[in-house]
Amino acid sequence: MCKHVLNAQVSIRAPCCKQWFDCAECHEETQDHRLKRTMEMVFICKKCKKAFRKDMSNYEESDEYCPHCDNHYVIEAKTPQAVVGVEGDDARIDSRMLKDERMRVDHRPSLFDFSDSLG
Ligand SMILES: [Zn+2]
Ligand SMILES: [Zn+2]
Ligand SMILES: [Zn+2]
Repeated sequence: MCKHVLNAQVSIRAPCCKQWFDCAECHEETQDHRLKRTMEMVFICKKCKKAFRKDMSNYEESDEYCPHCDNHYVIEAKTPQAVVGVEGDDARIDSRMLKDERMRVDHRPSLFDFSDSLG
């Protein structure tokens, strides 16, 4: 579970650095390179802890479920509401928060941020 997507059901392997993230924003915050997008995403289900792959160029409704335990992992992201604009002394933090806030207007973290096929 990460702070951006409170109800994340899967972890996703970033194709660029081969590390596991709950959402694309976690990647952005911890890595200094751009997230590489992929047509073949690798997930780990948080419920049964098993890995599986999905071809995002041929994604169907049945692919929204974990093939091992049927966990519905494609869900609307629950995002925290009150994380922006609390502490304000540090200008560096401020500008980052502003950026975050702007991003939140038209962009909610989603596991499809890793996918090449949408958006
Ligand atoms: Zn990476
Ligand atoms: Zn996150
Ligand atoms: Zn599962």
